[in-house]
Amino acid sequence: MKNTCKAAIFAGKEKIEIRNITKPKPKSNEVLVELKMCALCTWEQRVYQGVNKVEFPFIGGHEQAGTIVEVGTDIDKALWNVGDDVAVGLLTSCGECEKCRIGEEGNCENFSYESFVGGLNIRGMGGLSQYLAVSASKIFKIEGSLSYQEAALTEPLSCVVHSVETANIQLGETVIVIGTGIMGAFHAVLARNKGARVIISEPNKKRIDLMKTLSFEEFIIPDEENAIERSLELTEGKGADVVLNTVGVSKLAEEAIQMSSLYGRVILYSSYHPDTPISISPNSIHKRMTKLMGSANSNTCDFITAMKLLNERVIDVKPFIYGIYELDEIEQAMKTAIDPDNYRVIMQIT
Ligand SMILES: [Zn+2]
Ligand SMILES: [Zn+2]
Repeated sequence: MKNTCKAAIFAGKEKIEIRNITKPKPKSNEVLVELKMCALCTWEQRVYQGVNKVEFPFIGGHEQAGTIVEVGTDIDKALWNVGDDVAVGLLTSCGECEKCRIGEEGNCENFSYESFVGGLNIRGMGGLSQYLAVSASKIFKIEGSLSYQEAALTEPLSCVVHSVETANIQLGETVIVIGTGIMGAFHAVLARNKGARVIISEPNKKRIDLMKTLSFEEFIIPDEENAIERSLELTEGKGADVVLNTVGVSKLAEEAIQMSSLYGRVILYSSYHPDTPISISPNSIHKRMTKLMGSANSNTCDFITAMKLLNERVIDVKPFIYGIYELDEIEQAMKTAIDPDNYRVIMQIT
């Protein structure tokens, strides 16, 4: 059997090469996954653009799905076998630190984007390699007719599951979602599934049209109207029970707080580039008893929930897949992914 495999390697700023690398070998407690699809997340796009700094060479990719082609001798065959299709979770948590052991793998104390994972001999998150050797604790079974490309979106969906659960949305509440890039759109869909009235704040016409096809009806268009005033008009002057900001612009974090109601919960989901400080009124937070919260990453429990939502067809992610590209088209795919008009771009690995 060939002991090399293909991988897309980030070799420098705006430079990705397809190279042959040593094929990983699973340990006795691991499975070998042949990756089929890997989506290009904003994080990888920022590595490509040189915004997120990493040491090169680097293997990006962390939104991945594939099939098991080998199982280690200690793997329970009642659970996992060759031919099982799986989504692969983030490989960067250690499983041993206190955070991992209390179920907060998303905050692993040993977390690094630049560790060696998946049995690879190049640093990075591994998803743009043809094969990964992974622990059974990091794989999640694909069921029914769910495709590899849909399953590749389990990881981003899991991050939104974490955010929406943190917001603790209740039946009948009003939720404003700021931004409907893919993560904002997932927030809107999950908030509606939680039984909320969802208002979307979005200037991009294409995105608004897509959300309309998904039966969202209430929009704030910040380019055309004062978003805060409009949010108050739509909520009888009260503001929204929950405001979810998914756009990495500091000014919008400030506006999110101003759009929230008495006892409002505000989630800052996106990361902010640049991280410009905002001004908030401490008295307003005090008097209105605002809960201002951040949400980043996801834990294994969120991944399990996201996998169920996909397998059981509660959530349809197909409208948010822009296109599938072959591995050797990755530079073009990356440029397409960076265009804010486009939703997720997915690489076909094998
Ligand atoms: Zn991601
Ligand atoms: Zn850990």
